[in-house]
Amino acid sequence: MAAGIVVVFDFDKTIIDVDSDNWVVDGLGATEEFERLLPTMPWNTLMDTMMCELHARGKTIHDVADVLRSAPLDRRVVSAIKACYGLGCDLRILSDANRFFIETILDHHGLRGYFSEINTNPSHVDADGRLRIAPYHDFHAGPHGCGLGICPPNMCKGQVLDRIRASAGVDKRVIYLGDGRGDYCPSLRLGRDDFVMPRRGFPVWELICEDPSLLKAEVHPWADGEEMEETLLRLVGRVLVEVSNKQMPQLDCKLESLPAVAAQDGALPMPMPLRIKN
Ligand SMILES: [Mg+2]
Repeated sequence: MAAGIVVVFDFDKTIIDVDSDNWVVDGLGATEEFERLLPTMPWNTLMDTMMCELHARGKTIHDVADVLRSAPLDRRVVSAIKACYGLGCDLRILSDANRFFIETILDHHGLRGYFSEINTNPSHVDADGRLRIAPYHDFHAGPHGCGLGICPPNMCKGQVLDRIRASAGVDKRVIYLGDGRGDYCPSLRLGRDDFVMPRRGFPVWELICEDPSLLKAEVHPWADGEEMEETLLRLVGRVLVEVSNKQMPQLDCKLESLPAVAAQDGALPMPMPLRIKN
């Protein structure tokens, strides 16, 4: 991965525009049962329970997959993913959904190969054809130990992000995109050279706004696919220029003298070839 950039995407309401758990439950007509059980168990356990309930109602794994394939995915998010990959970024998913849901949707849109890793709750189809969903951290064996008090018992995304950083290399710059409360912990763990892209108006954005000084990373909000693509590619372009300037300081004067280079995002130059829009 030549760019030295790791882009970590949440999945629900970040890559797709809905929550895949709710999309499946609502799409297969089990909303009432879901809401009845919601106060009684953790979300991850509830989704496993709902998959068994749907199976008992005669819904097959193919019915689940059909509903997943109809989940809305903004074409600008697709083009952003492809452009980042083309620029040499290492793309990863960090999601509290589950592997079957995510892979079914990515496969449908031809996107799975763009991601080097999917970090999420494990799932499998059992001998009776039921989708079983397990927690990422086995909270029955013990708590994951994050002291923030916001992460769900089955997944602390902050701890997973630390592992991603360690595996990718500490010199990598991280761009993190998410919308939910679970995306706050990893946002707090990002460093000064990293970027967080919270979805404006969503829970992680509200948590960040309570005290922005708690974050070391630069904050760049986005509201929809168009703004996500523009913001993400601007940040990737900025990092690429910074990296190339560090590696080849003699390029500084050349970049500044190019007439096609426009000052963007607070003055750092961005070469024209990086402005990939579609
Ligand atoms: Mg989300």
